[in-house]
Amino acid sequence: AKWVYFFGKDRTEGDGKNKNLLGGKGAGLAEMTSIGIPVPPGFTITTEACVQFYKDNKNYPAGLWDQVLAALATLETAMGKKFGDIENPLLVSVRSGARVSMPGMMDTVLNLGLTDESVKGLAKSSGNERFAYDSYRRFIQMFSDVVLGIGHHQFEHILKDMKNARGVKEDTELNAADMKELVEKYKALVLSEIGRQFPQDPKEQLKYAIDAVFDSWNNQRAKTCRKINKMSDDWGTAVNVQSMVFGNMGDDCGTGVAFTRDPSTGEKVFFGEYLVNAQGEDVVAGIRTPEPIAKLQTAMPEVFGQLEEVYKKLENHYKDVQDIEFTIERGTLYMLQTRTGKRTARAAVKIAYDMVQEGLIDKRTAVLRVAPEQVDQLLHPMIDTSIKYDIIAKGLPASPGAAVGKAVFSAEDAESWAAQGEKVILVRAETSPEDIGGMHAAQGILTATGGMTSHAAVVARGMGKCCVAGCGAIRINEHQRLFTASGVTIKEGDILTINGSTGEVIVGAAKLIEPELSGEFAEILTWADTFRTLGVRANADTPHDSQVAREFGAEGIGLCRTEHMFFDGNRIDAVREMILADNEEGRRKALAKVKPYQKEDFLGLFTAMEGLPVTIRLLDPPLHEFIPHNDEEIDRVAKASGVSAEHLKAKATELHEFNPMLGHRGCRLGLTYPEIYEMQVYAIFEAACELVKQGKVVKPEVMIPLVGSYKELEILKDMTNEVAQETIARYGVKLDYLVGTMIELPRAALTANEIAEHAQFFSFGTNDLTQTTLGVSRDDAGKFLPIYVEKGIFKEDPFVSIDVSGVGQLVEMGVSKGRSVRPDLKTGICGEHGGDPDSIAFCQKAGLNYVSCSPFRVPVARLAAAHAAL
Ligand code: PEP
Ligand code: MG
Repeated sequence: AKWVYFFGKDRTEGDGKNKNLLGGKGAGLAEMTSIGIPVPPGFTITTEACVQFYKDNKNYPAGLWDQVLAALATLETAMGKKFGDIENPLLVSVRSGARVSMPGMMDTVLNLGLTDESVKGLAKSSGNERFAYDSYRRFIQMFSDVVLGIGHHQFEHILKDMKNARGVKEDTELNAADMKELVEKYKALVLSEIGRQFPQDPKEQLKYAIDAVFDSWNNQRAKTCRKINKMSDDWGTAVNVQSMVFGNMGDDCGTGVAFTRDPSTGEKVFFGEYLVNAQGEDVVAGIRTPEPIAKLQTAMPEVFGQLEEVYKKLENHYKDVQDIEFTIERGTLYMLQTRTGKRTARAAVKIAYDMVQEGLIDKRTAVLRVAPEQVDQLLHPMIDTSIKYDIIAKGLPASPGAAVGKAVFSAEDAESWAAQGEKVILVRAETSPEDIGGMHAAQGILTATGGMTSHAAVVARGMGKCCVAGCGAIRINEHQRLFTASGVTIKEGDILTINGSTGEVIVGAAKLIEPELSGEFAEILTWADTFRTLGVRANADTPHDSQVAREFGAEGIGLCRTEHMFFDGNRIDAVREMILADNEEGRRKALAKVKPYQKEDFLGLFTAMEGLPVTIRLLDPPLHEFIPHNDEEIDRVAKASGVSAEHLKAKATELHEFNPMLGHRGCRLGLTYPEIYEMQVYAIFEAACELVKQGKVVKPEVMIPLVGSYKELEILKDMTNEVAQETIARYGVKLDYLVGTMIELPRAALTANEIAEHAQFFSFGTNDLTQTTLGVSRDDAGKFLPIYVEKGIFKEDPFVSIDVSGVGQLVEMGVSKGRSVRPDLKTGICGEHGGDPDSIAFCQKAGLNYVSCSPFRVPVARLAAAHAAL
């Protein structure tokens, strides 16, 4: 098998489109090389080799090592240098590169090939002894960390001691002799740590480094990263071995990273940072603060000119924003990487929109460029700036949005506090890949060092978390878990607000305001609407929520949970009176008091959704949910309703159920206390008829919950129709309406053909359907679901993303059985899954007519529905 692909000016073997085989980095290098962009030559070991390596118990597959040696020989010829040479040695970098980029997740070794002998050659060929030994000591440190497992800090200590001894601050102030001495000290450390000399055979070094990259695929932080990003553990990583170019040979050298457009705002400006006289990792690691790329234009105009030409060529070639890495060696530009630039949702929208205007891509591509999961960010709150706040520091606006939370100072704390339901802001000097779990758990991230392309910034943007980075004004004391800024001390647990759009750090909780759709986003959503076939409705119970949903583009209400209306204001008293009543007469008396409120609610809802369908579900939850349970509350309510506390307690006991979710709820309430549903149906149709009289268009859809047998539905449907007809006749109007049911019990799906005889629509209540199909209580699953997900029993929380192979079958069966007797049966989904992009893709496949989700998810759902259709 072919495991190794060479790339170089004269011969590029790999297909630059094949990221699955070559990894993202390897594919980019092959592609850049083949379109004539200056790239140092090298070769890529495929992801398949890595996969095979794991299959063979971490042994190299047959032929791999020979192919590596052959490619190395080709590389030596191309460079006119030899590995380990004492005159002019070839040095290489060894880097990982999975098919999807995992920034900072895996290990890299630079300057490989340096030994006690070849370092002399490097000194000779570069004419710079200090540079040669500086490279060697960097190599020993990196190789030891990545391959031999000797921590960075041990080397950093030696370096610090040396600087102290010399009375200097910067590494650059150390001279050649110092570097030589450092090399000796580093080697001595290696010897004492592993009991062997630092490897002096470059080929052995290479083999070790390749092993380490393969191994790094399964280190903890890589695994965590894959889990968060839903990437498969089976992909493996490629290994890129590339000849070194040096950004650290002097002041005509440098290294940088850049985006072809601003990844934060999407603006069409070249955006990036570079460091003079530095090596690649220095920029990303956030150790020295880099210069903005614009400065390169004055510092090295010629190189900047080349860079401009290259980035424009790359963007035109890929027709998307590129995230590039480059190195300048003695005034010559080399590209080390290009990949699709990660961007904020705001930038994704602007870039997609702009590129359509520029004629670079079509609308379909633009819609596909904006990830539904991501646009959720645009719907996130911003700080209300009309109020004055105590701004105590300002850092870089690294990832937009605002967050309020309690300060925590370690990733572990962020995770454990968040697990307790706390909202936290993770405060770190800088983040590293180990912190990824904590970053995910936090509302936002605040760091003291590092630039716009530092780890914290890049990862936060990818996650859609707000982030303020490089906030030099804060002094962090990790040990005491506090930081100070402008004379204010923020301790662990203190509340602060960060604004990732401005970089501001604010004491206390700022007032956040809800976002609005930008013009460009609204435009892209209208493009999305032209591609999607699924309808998008909202789950809303109030006129306000309905209004929000409508502004976000909802095409109706898919679920109004009427029980939410029962709690409001005074009416809860009447509801309780109804529950406390001992007979039908008492209940009817109380219900008569509830009815005007309900009618009022429906008037509001129908008005807000005028012209659009409004699905109203009749009462669903068990009645005990409406009465108080602790003594204090019981006393208060007893007084208010004029009954004794004993009576109320007795009623609570009577209503107590062992499995309320499988108990006296849903249509079972409507069958045992018909007067409740009757009151609701009257309220619905009186409200509707009144509006029709005023000339409004109203489309009520009455929905019966928790049906398991067609007989339940038959009875309640007949009741509904009777009340509806009577009311419509009484008002003397014309009104079309539908009566349907939720499918949220397995038996309903299994007998959907019988049920469809009596239902004009089905709405899949996948919350309950998941609960009842899996036998997993939606209210108690928190104790074990995370462990189930961790152990891989569930790939994802089945209450978040639909269990396609289980629950999904019931949905499909429900649709096909239902349509077998009623071909025009309308079908939708109103469980939480209705706002989840993966579940929406499933709904498309299952042939549903619409999805219904919370108002703020409506834009996400519109986009996801378009993606599902394309
Ligand atoms: C459902 O069960 O999916 C549903 C939408 O109803 P609820 O969440 O109110 O039980
Ligand atoms: Mg339900």
